[in-house]
Amino acid sequence: MVNDAELRHLRRCVELANEALESGDEPFGSVLVSADGAVLAEDHNRVASGDRTRHPEFELARWAAANMTPEERAAATVFTSGEHCPMCAAAHGWVGLGRIVYASSSEQLASWLAELGIPSPPVRTLPIQAIVPDLVVEGPIPGLAEQVRDLHRRFHSAP
Ligand SMILES: [Zn+2]
Repeated sequence: MVNDAELRHLRRCVELANEALESGDEPFGSVLVSADGAVLAEDHNRVASGDRTRHPEFELARWAAANMTPEERAAATVFTSGEHCPMCAAAHGWVGLGRIVYASSSEQLASWLAELGIPSPPVRTLPIQAIVPDLVVEGPIPGLAEQVRDLHRRFHSAP
């Protein structure tokens, strides 16, 4: 279950996804939160530059590796607008971060993109726990997932 403070972090992720969209990027946003609830870092997708590895969850994993002890990482939570892709799930697992809470799942995203007629991405879509089996993962969050869907629809309907 997610509490009110956690819902606020998820709403911030959706806001960051919207910021990405407004700057011409794919709508994904993520927030890294410490065990005591402090926001440590946040980011949104930056793949419009041409580097398609610039996902916010990957950036947060690398930030955590550079700035947090293993104990702090294990106790932290990553909130994100969309479930981690396999690359980001692996990075999260390798640096030993804790729980993940996502607003919308990869399965939802795949179905939304299929509805829009968008071709499948070159990297397979998998649930986070197919990559990091022992991780605590929560989501999707009803209400917020629909907001994320609308951002993806806007991104793909842009001229
Ligand atoms: Zn990713």
